[in-house]
Amino acid sequence: MSIAKDLYQLQEVDLALEANLQAQKRVSGQIGESPIVIKAREKLVEEQKNVERLTAQQKSTEWEIDDLSAKIKETEKKLYGGRIFNSKELSSLQQETDDLKKRRSGFEDKSLELMDQLEILRKTIENSKSELATLETQWKEQQKQLVVELMQLKAAQVVLESNRKQLSGLFDAETLEIYQELRKRKGVAVAKVEQGICHGCRITLPNTDLQRAKGGGVVRCSSCGRIIFLA
Ligand SMILES: [Zn+2]
Repeated sequence: MSIAKDLYQLQEVDLALEANLQAQKRVSGQIGESPIVIKAREKLVEEQKNVERLTAQQKSTEWEIDDLSAKIKETEKKLYGGRIFNSKELSSLQQETDDLKKRRSGFEDKSLELMDQLEILRKTIENSKSELATLETQWKEQQKQLVVELMQLKAAQVVLESNRKQLSGLFDAETLEIYQELRKRKGVAVAKVEQGICHGCRITLPNTDLQRAKGGGVVRCSSCGRIIFLA
């Protein structure tokens, strides 16, 4: 039995736990409302408001046209009714009719323009709706996957924690303290040694250290202070 090897394993579990918790944080951060979907929803609402605004304008333009048509009908009735013979009065009525028609024609142009705008806008809304539906489907799918991923990570965390508890039982308090202290200070507490080189600091270890490490006890690199593990 080698303490260094067990400590190395403990470190592997601790690093996996660290990565697991980081992944959980990342996944949790992605669960929730999507800014892209929110933006698409807001865009659609804005477009629908524009349709309402243009429809109201269109209606009031139609009312103007109806109103002017009624007035034109009235003046034309007087004009062609055969009851007025005064040429000055007739010409003034004619002028009034022409003015009314001119105004009506302006509103008719405006009405057509609004109808065109509304048609374009309604097509835009159709596109926006379908875009939003696609985004929402994607988002829901992604959320489902994230929830599954988070559950898997939590399950893995439970296993890792149980492994850690089991492994921790193998060491005395002093060894654990050295390990924890090194982990805190250096991140990597147990360094692999291959071909006499410490992976923690890349320095070739003296033979005496290597010989001591072969015994399987806790031997620390004379250069970086990490516990060495002969791989
Ligand atoms: Zn070292």
